[in-house]
Amino acid sequence: MLQEPITKLSGVGEKRAQALADLGIETIENLLNYYPFRYDDIKERNLAEINDQEKVTIKGVVVSPPVVNRFGYKKSRLQFRMMQDHDVFSVSFFNQPYLKDKIVLSEDIAVFGKWDGKRKSLTGMKILGAKQEGDFAPIYHVSKAVRQQTLVDLIKKAFVHFGDQIEENLPLSLIEKYRLMEKKEAMYAMHFPNTPEEHHQAKRRVVFEEFFLFQMKIQGLKKEEKSEKHGIVIDYDVERVKAFTQKLPFSLTNAQKRVTNEICRDFLQAKHMQRLLQGDVGSGKTVVAAIALYAAVTAGFQGALMVPTEILAQQHLASLNQLFDPLEIHTALLTSSTKAKERQEIIEKLQQGEIDVVVGTHSLIQEGVDFSNLGLVITDEQHRFGVNQRRGLREKGFQPDVLFMTATPIPRTLAITAYGEMDVSVIDEMPAGRLPVKTHWIKRGQLEDALKNARIELEKGQQMYVICPLIEESESLDVQNAVELYEELKDFFSPDFVVGLLHGKIKAEEKEEIMGAFKDNEIQVLVSTTVIEVGVDVPNATTMLIIDADRFGLAQLHQLRGRVGRGQQASSCILVANPKNELGKERMKIMTETNNGFLLSQKDLELRGPGEVFGFKQSGLPEFVAADIVADANILEVAKDEAQSLWHKKNWQLLPEYAGLLAYLKEKDPENQFFD
Ligand code: ADP
Ligand code: MG
Repeated sequence: MLQEPITKLSGVGEKRAQALADLGIETIENLLNYYPFRYDDIKERNLAEINDQEKVTIKGVVVSPPVVNRFGYKKSRLQFRMMQDHDVFSVSFFNQPYLKDKIVLSEDIAVFGKWDGKRKSLTGMKILGAKQEGDFAPIYHVSKAVRQQTLVDLIKKAFVHFGDQIEENLPLSLIEKYRLMEKKEAMYAMHFPNTPEEHHQAKRRVVFEEFFLFQMKIQGLKKEEKSEKHGIVIDYDVERVKAFTQKLPFSLTNAQKRVTNEICRDFLQAKHMQRLLQGDVGSGKTVVAAIALYAAVTAGFQGALMVPTEILAQQHLASLNQLFDPLEIHTALLTSSTKAKERQEIIEKLQQGEIDVVVGTHSLIQEGVDFSNLGLVITDEQHRFGVNQRRGLREKGFQPDVLFMTATPIPRTLAITAYGEMDVSVIDEMPAGRLPVKTHWIKRGQLEDALKNARIELEKGQQMYVICPLIEESESLDVQNAVELYEELKDFFSPDFVVGLLHGKIKAEEKEEIMGAFKDNEIQVLVSTTVIEVGVDVPNATTMLIIDADRFGLAQLHQLRGRVGRGQQASSCILVANPKNELGKERMKIMTETNNGFLLSQKDLELRGPGEVFGFKQSGLPEFVAADIVADANILEVAKDEAQSLWHKKNWQLLPEYAGLLAYLKEKDPENQFFD
């Protein structure tokens, strides 16, 4: 069995097993899947065609006995002469005196090393032996305790003894359709390819398999979620919803119309809606949420809107009330600071169905809160909500449709992997007439000037955010930084303007108070760590100053920038950064060049990887062995489509063609019930 511990392999005892375990190799299968991260080209070459300083493999005959010269402590040079055709040249190995035994006069030898064209000599790196197979030597991530050659030998041995047990897990139809290499062959060629083309084909197969299996899992989940036994039909009143949208103070953008239709279509189906609504800051998600909530109410359901903070809850409630104004919609606010008596009242009304729409923080779904007929839950900035909180609802016996709204644009490839079980709607258009935020990048030395300019804005009655970076390693250092900056700015701006401070150590209530004071213009300059990231609306704030901006992800910077540019006045975002390298400079430059959040998060994904797009470590992002969601995006799309269409095939689990696939999925995920 491939699942057997690595100690089943002869030559692997306890000690070596421990060393391998440190590399993540515990089973035979782990070992076979431990792919090299690159290959050295060790194709044999003729002296005549080799360039100076090129890394090559040269085959020839040993024509002088090897000599070792030692100099200093532990330093040595091993030298001998080799002949290829009729050319003789010298070969040197540094600090590997033990190789001497492998070099035998008059015998064939192949040496991999760097060619010095001027001196006609080779600096050896490896002796390959005369019978080297393949032109590429795999290079693995290794440790002090496990060397390259050890790994190569073990992997070869594992293929000899266990190779026959590698079973195909992709259906024949897919192998044929995409001309994929068979599993066993591909796994071998991932380690020991004969040609670049062979490696390419092996990799294509392995990547496809990885994506496909992952997509089979999440598409299975999606199907389960959507099965009719879990869902409700929200049979809304089309006429009333139409009338509502026509009475809005503005007409919807085409993108808003499109996503609203997508949501309404889900409502009418007896499946459990799980839709991710993405839209850049200011793209108008709130009104879409309002329409959806209203539609649910016309169908006789209650709706809930959950947000991460109290102040956001208040803000959303105010916007909803304004939009719902002439209509008979009963709304309520329920947060952790709702007084006990009022809370009791709201809970009773929710139970009796006297409240149609409730807005609140996660205390909405906590103990004691019950609904009479909950049909729709909308969450804003859902990645701040735990999965457990969402599950809490279900455990209370509600299966509402769920809409997750987020202003963090998620590149498509990432959305497929991180949110693959959800449908995605995108608002990719801004309401007309917005003033774009102007972004400037300055060096730290120019900060004083920037502050002088900011003062001019403040004198016109505007407000300003100043963001200092979060230092992940140390929260206290972080707070200290913020406090110092706050003191400096207080010196600079007092007594003309009030400076406020927000950071992670400040209690929730106090934070809300400070935010409130900023919103009411009692504070003009708000110094903060990134806690304000979540969408509070202060239209009077027109300057966003971000210190050490190169420490933030692009998506996060864009989020922060979205805090300004919400009113009638022109706004600006100032990035203060002295990036150390080209990558950092490029990132700052991109920020000044585009206001397109999707483009920025795609860039972030390319430049810094998936974890960075969210600005924090995203739980639930799968780790792939060979596949890369950026480089292999095309294969990801295809694999997703194939998994989707297989799940649409009735009872595919019973068809012999998929027996191998089913067995494999079951083995990897024994808890999963969907296959029965
Ligand atoms: P976000 O997507 O960031 O949540 P909001 O829903 O807060 O955006 O909308 C931002 C602002 O744009 C609000 O003041 C809202 O009233 C306004 N708005 C929304 N849709 C439109 C539209 N179609 N035309 C004009 N203004 C709109
Ligand atoms: Mg919003």
